[in-house]
Amino acid sequence: MFNLDVNEIRKDFPILSLQVNGKRLVYLDNAATTHKPVAVIDAMKHYYENLNANPHRGAHYLSVAATEAYEGVREKVRKFINAASSKEIIFTRNTTESLNLLSYTYGMKYIEPGDEIVLSITNHHSNIVPWQQVAKAKGAVLKYIYVDSNGRITPEEIRNKITSKTKVVSIGHMSNVLGVIYPVKEIIEYAHSMGAIVIVDGAQSVPHIKVDVTDMDADFYAFSGHKMLGPMGIGVLYGKAELLEKMPPFLTGGDMIEYVYEQETTFAKFPFKFEAGTQNVEGAVGLGAAIDYICNIGLHNIHEHERRLTEYAIDKMKEIPYIHIYGPKSADEDKGGVISFSIDGVHPHDTASILDAYGIAIRAGHHCAQPLMRFLGAPATSRISFYLYNTTEEIDIFIDNIKNVRRWLGYGS
Ligand code: PMP
Repeated sequence: MFNLDVNEIRKDFPILSLQVNGKRLVYLDNAATTHKPVAVIDAMKHYYENLNANPHRGAHYLSVAATEAYEGVREKVRKFINAASSKEIIFTRNTTESLNLLSYTYGMKYIEPGDEIVLSITNHHSNIVPWQQVAKAKGAVLKYIYVDSNGRITPEEIRNKITSKTKVVSIGHMSNVLGVIYPVKEIIEYAHSMGAIVIVDGAQSVPHIKVDVTDMDADFYAFSGHKMLGPMGIGVLYGKAELLEKMPPFLTGGDMIEYVYEQETTFAKFPFKFEAGTQNVEGAVGLGAAIDYICNIGLHNIHEHERRLTEYAIDKMKEIPYIHIYGPKSADEDKGGVISFSIDGVHPHDTASILDAYGIAIRAGHHCAQPLMRFLGAPATSRISFYLYNTTEEIDIFIDNIKNVRRWLGYGS
């Protein structure tokens, strides 16, 4: 049953009462980053006031307390994405670092000349550029899965691109441009039947839909804390134990070692093997509070709320003849709360700047997805993206001011 009280939720987010350019802030840029509820801000403050120390150096009270806080969140993340063991949860800075970790460890060790790495054309740059480095260094071939006119991936395209030569498939779970949620479980099943491993970029999905890495059988799954109400500078990489075991470390130095000799080092077991140096404990604590907050509301409620907002916004946008929507034009189950669009005769950057004058925050540009932009034949788009605290009233304000954008630029309507 759907149960989400958006007015109550908004009270938890101090920044939402901000005035911007003399207007009430309307924040529609949640695919870029999300705002933080008081519970997250307080958890981080509490950490610094009561628990602050280096974890894993258990010599004194505070160090033990910091270790317990940090490892407690590792277990919380495990439960949140249903991993088999908390050892399979590695803390990173963000999705980008998680994907770089994989390309520089798994990719550089296991990809060989002639192997194929399959990406989606919808991937964010952070899930393209690292694989280009591996392909160049190892003489591998990069192949792309393309999308149909609605931004969806067809079963035929999956079968055409993933072959017995494919070693790695690395794909975004949800597009940060088109908002499409991709059938990763089916892609993983097929890729496994071809002998490939599958990495899923969950930066846009984990904050909005229930992710179960065990059920989908993902080999690796990456996401960022800041897109799910948590702080910046904390991210997660989930990996299957048997794969993490055979991977070399990424960054080296303190904390990730077992013994260090003058010429040689033996490494700690995972996850610590992949967590070099003093870690972002307050970030992890904030992420833990964000997970609690999300679980309290319920991901099914969040997804349904966003689906309703998306439907409302798309219906209103379709009534305006000079708006062009990219990707699906209805709020189906596989569409998240992200809508990319253009306005005839208006550059997307002008759209964003003019809306900003009315207190409305949207994104314009290539969204770190230049190959997709080229594929769509659009150098840039404008994008609105929702989260649990957005309202239909905010969408009305956005729609009203879209008309102002055209007026500012001299169009009659
Ligand atoms: N993948 C996707 C799909 C994204 O939307 C983003 C952020 N826009 C990233 C990866 C990168 O996330 P971060 O900057 O937190 O590493």
